[in-house]
Amino acid sequence: MADYSMYHALGQGAVSDEDSTRQQSAINPNIQFNPSAAPPPSGYQETGTYGIPPHNSQPAYGTPQSSSFVQSPNAGYAAGPPPAPGQSDGHAMAGLASQIGGLGITADSGRGHRKKHRHAYHDIGGPVGSLQTSNGMPHAVAQNSAQFLNNTGQSPQHQPTVPSPAVAVSREAYSATGTFPQTEFPSSKTSSVSTQGKVNPDQLPSIPRSRDIAAQHYFNHVYPTLERHVPPPATIPFVAHDQGNSSPKYARLTLNNLPSTSDFLSSTALPLGLILQPLARLDPGEQPIPVIDFGDTGPPRCRRCRAYVNPFMMFRAGGGRFVCNMCTFPNEVPPAYYAALDASGVRSDRMQRPELLMGTVEFLVPREHWVKEPVGLRWLFLVDVSQESVNRGFLEGVCEGIMGALYGGEHDGAGENDGETIPRRLPEGSKVGIVTFDKEVHFYNLCPQLDQAQMMVMTDLEEPFVPLSEGLFVDPYESKSVISSLLSQIPTIFTHVKNPEPALLPTINAALSALQPTGGKMVCTLASLPTWGPGRLVMRDPGKGQGVDSESKLFNSEHPEWRKTATKLAESGVGIDFFIASPGGAYLDLAIIGHTAAVSGGETFFYPNFHAPRDILKLSRELAHTVNRDTGYQAQLKVRCSNGLQVSSCHGNFLQHTFGADLEIGAIDEDKAISVLFNYDGKLDPKLDAHFQAALLYTTAGGQRRVRCINVVAAVNERGLETMKFIDQDAVIATIAKEAASKATDKSLKDIRASITEKTIDIYAGYRKNFSGSHPPGQLVLPENLIEFSMYMLGLIKSRAFKDGVETSDRRVHEMRILRSVGCTELSLYLYPRIIAIHNLRPEDGFASEQGQLQVPPTLRATYSSVEDGGAYLVDNGQICLLWMHERVSPNLLEDLFGPGMTSLGSLDPAISSIPVLETHLNAQVRNILQYLSATRGSKAVTIQLARQGVDGAEYEFARLLVEDRNNDAQNYVDWLVHIHRQVNLELAGHRKREDTGASAEGALSTLAGIRPPYW
Ligand SMILES: [Zn+2]
Repeated sequence: MADYSMYHALGQGAVSDEDSTRQQSAINPNIQFNPSAAPPPSGYQETGTYGIPPHNSQPAYGTPQSSSFVQSPNAGYAAGPPPAPGQSDGHAMAGLASQIGGLGITADSGRGHRKKHRHAYHDIGGPVGSLQTSNGMPHAVAQNSAQFLNNTGQSPQHQPTVPSPAVAVSREAYSATGTFPQTEFPSSKTSSVSTQGKVNPDQLPSIPRSRDIAAQHYFNHVYPTLERHVPPPATIPFVAHDQGNSSPKYARLTLNNLPSTSDFLSSTALPLGLILQPLARLDPGEQPIPVIDFGDTGPPRCRRCRAYVNPFMMFRAGGGRFVCNMCTFPNEVPPAYYAALDASGVRSDRMQRPELLMGTVEFLVPREHWVKEPVGLRWLFLVDVSQESVNRGFLEGVCEGIMGALYGGEHDGAGENDGETIPRRLPEGSKVGIVTFDKEVHFYNLCPQLDQAQMMVMTDLEEPFVPLSEGLFVDPYESKSVISSLLSQIPTIFTHVKNPEPALLPTINAALSALQPTGGKMVCTLASLPTWGPGRLVMRDPGKGQGVDSESKLFNSEHPEWRKTATKLAESGVGIDFFIASPGGAYLDLAIIGHTAAVSGGETFFYPNFHAPRDILKLSRELAHTVNRDTGYQAQLKVRCSNGLQVSSCHGNFLQHTFGADLEIGAIDEDKAISVLFNYDGKLDPKLDAHFQAALLYTTAGGQRRVRCINVVAAVNERGLETMKFIDQDAVIATIAKEAASKATDKSLKDIRASITEKTIDIYAGYRKNFSGSHPPGQLVLPENLIEFSMYMLGLIKSRAFKDGVETSDRRVHEMRILRSVGCTELSLYLYPRIIAIHNLRPEDGFASEQGQLQVPPTLRATYSSVEDGGAYLVDNGQICLLWMHERVSPNLLEDLFGPGMTSLGSLDPAISSIPVLETHLNAQVRNILQYLSATRGSKAVTIQLARQGVDGAEYEFARLLVEDRNNDAQNYVDWLVHIHRQVNLELAGHRKREDTGASAEGALSTLAGIRPPYW
C-alpha cells in the first residue's frame, strides 16, 4: 500500500517502484510495541466479580461499561453502508443545529441568520459518508445517528446505553484490531430523532475512542514515515519506521500537504508549524539513530544555505553534483563523497548511506567547529538545606532521590547491591558535584580518595566564587562511598542549623562559575521563597489574583539580576532544572525563579502543598528521571525550510537574542519540544515538495559534539483541499497552546481564552467556507483530522494556565511553562486525561496477550456520566495520576488492591502513593496498567494519589479533570460545541462579531506577519 506518489523527490526526483519495495522490505514485521508486563500470579483463585453492592440489585462489578465499550466482536467500525460519493470529507454533526433549539438558543427557521436552525437538517436517515480510504489513511466517516436525550445542559448525568457516535476508521485500520473491545455501533440501522431533543453527549466526537482505536492498530502495525501522511495520535505508543522522513516523535508538521500560496493557508486559518522534540525517547523496537563520522571535513552541506545532506538532496550530472532540496542550489559533490549513479539515477552507494536513507541522523562535528572541548555532562546538584526544607521532610526526600538517580534506589524497583558491580546509570565520562545552600553556599570535595566529603563554605554572596579547584566534579561511581555517605548525612547535619532564609541566586551564580568552562546541568531544589542575599525575592502574590488586570504582572519574570543569570546560563551551555516544593501552599515566585529554567532549556518540577509521606516517591522518581533521561547541553537549534517559506517565530525553552538568530539552549532533554512557525515569503511550486530541516548542534552526555538532523517533507498542492486531508491535529493543538502560553505576560487571561475560542471558530468556519462540499448549512462539519480538536481547545481553556476563576500565580505560571515546553504526548494528556475503570477489568486486561502485547483496557470519556456507582478509576493527565473511588466501592476490590484488612475507604492511608505488590489478579493488573501509563508520557512520574469520594481533597482535582463537564468556570462539551457551531454559522453568514479583537482587524495576539486573517 505504499503511496509514494504524494512525494516527488525522494533522493532522485521520482521514486522507482523498486526503490519503494526495498524500503518496505526493510520493515521488520516483528517489530511491535511490547511493554513489560508481570505474569499473572500463580495459584490465585480469580473471583471474577467484586460482589454485589447492597444498595443495588444489579451487579456493579464485572458487568460491562454502561455505554461505551461493550464487547461486541461483530460490530465493525467499518460496517456502514457503501460510500455516498462526495460526502466523505467531513464529520458531520447533524442535528446539532436542532439541538441548539433544545438548548434554549433562539432558533427560528428562515428568519434572520441567528435564528435559522430550528427546523434545520436532521438528516438522520442513515450514516452518510464514505469508507473510501485516501492514501491509505483512516477516513473519518460522517454518521448522523442521533438519539437526543433530554438534558438541560448541566453536567451530564448517567445516560442509558445509546447508539454511539460516528467516528469510524477505514477497513484497513479496523481489520487490524480484531481483539479490540468494539463499541456497540448502530451501523446502518439508525433511529429517528426527536426534534425537540437535546444533544446526547455520547454522540460528540470522542477523544478516548480516537486514541484507543489508533492504539490498537499500532500495537501490531509499524508507522512507515513516508507512506502514512498523518502520524498516529501523540498519546499512544507506536513504532515508527524511518523511510527518509523523520519520525513524528521528533517532528510533527501541522500540515503534511501545504497549499502553494499564503492565501490558501489563510483561508484555512490553520497555523503552519513544526513541533520539534529533537531528543525524543524511542519506543522499544525502534532503531537507534545512526551516528555518522565524516572526519575532519564534516558532512556534505549546501554551499548556499548550509543545509546538511539528506535523503531529498538530488544527485545529478552522473553523481558529480547535488541539488539542494531547500534552496535548489546545484553543489559540487566533494570528491571524497562522490559515487556514481546507477541506471535509474540513484547513487550506487545509497543503501549504505544512512544519511541518504533516514530522516533523522547524527553527524559528528569536526574539531575545528568546537567552541569548547566537549566533555561528559557535568551535573551539579544544588540542595536547599534551609529550615523549611529540613522541617518538611523535603531535604531527606531530595537526598534519597539523588541517591536513587545515581545508583538506583529502593523506590525504583531496580534493586541495588553494594559493591563495584552497580550498573552505570550515567554515561561514561559524566561527572557529578554537590552544593548545599541556606544563607551560605557549601561546596563539597568528593574525591574518591577521601574518607568522607569535605565541606568548603562560600560566604561572599555579593561576588560568588568556587572555593575549591579539585574534587568538585567526580565520577559518581568512583566516589560512590563518599557521595552516599554525604547524602545520607546531609539531612542530619542541617537539622541542627536551620537557617530560615535561603540565598538562591548567589548559589546559582557560584554554581555557574563552576560550570562555565565546560557547560553542564544544574538540578536545584527549593522549599521556601529565597529571601536572602542578592536577588532576594519578595512576596508579590497576595493570593487574590483572579482575572484582574494586574494578575498578569505576577506572571512577569522581570528582575534584572535573575534575567542576567538566566541569559548567562543559556550562553554558557548550562541548563537548570528546579524541584520546588511549596509546603502549605506558600508563594515561591515561580515566575522569576522558573524563568531561569525556561530560558536555559530546563524544567521546573513543582510540588504544591508538598506533603512528604505522599510526595516523596514522586519526587524521587522525577529526580531519577531528570538525571537519567537523554540530555544534551551547549545546544543550538537551526531550522531551514524550502524557498518560499520562512521561519516566523519559535516558542519553547531557549534563548534567542534577535529574531532569526539560532536558538541557544543551555541544556535540552528528551521531554522538551519547541514549536516553529512558518510563513510564506513567496509561492511554493506545487510540482515540488516542501522541505524542512532542523539541525540541533549539541554535546551528548557522553561528551561527543554532534549535529542531529531532522528532515521533514510535505507535499504541496494548488487548491488547498489536499491540505485539509493531511492535518496533524496534535501538532495544531501544540502550536496553538505554545503560542498562547507565550502571550500570558502581555495579554489578559480573558483575551487569551477568547483568542483560543476564536481560533477554533476560524478553523471550522474556514473549512466550512472553502472545503466542506455540499453539506446542508445547518450542520457543523468537522474536518476529518480535526474531529476532536474543539474538545482539546476546551481543555486548553479549562487548563490551570488559562482558566477563569481563582488560581495562585505560581500554579498558573508553572502550567503555562508546561504548555510551552512539553511535547505533543504530554500536552495531549494534559488537555484531556485518560481514565481507566479498574472495577470491571476483563480477566486478560493488564496482561500480555499471546502475541506478547499488553492488553490495555479502553479509556473513558472525561465526564461524570462515565462514572458508575461503586466504581474505581485511574485518572491520568500526564502530571498526576488519581485513583478515584466511589463511596460504595467493593470491599473485595479494596482488599485485592491494597491487601488484607483494607476493606473500606477509611482504612486506607491517605498518603499512599503506590500500589503494594500483592499476589492477587487485580493487583497485578493495576500495577501493569500503571507501568503502561508510565511508558507513554512526558517527564512526570506515575504515582497514585487517592481521591476517595467524600474523603479526600483530591476529589476536587478529579472533578476538575472531567473536562467534558461544566467546570473550571467554563462550559461543558455540548454547550461548547453548540457555541462554536453557532459562531461558525454567523461567520458563514457574515454576521460574526469576534470576541478577541473588537473592532480591530488585527488579532489581539497576532504574531504571524503576512498571513491573513491573523493567526490569532
Ligand atoms: Zn541549499
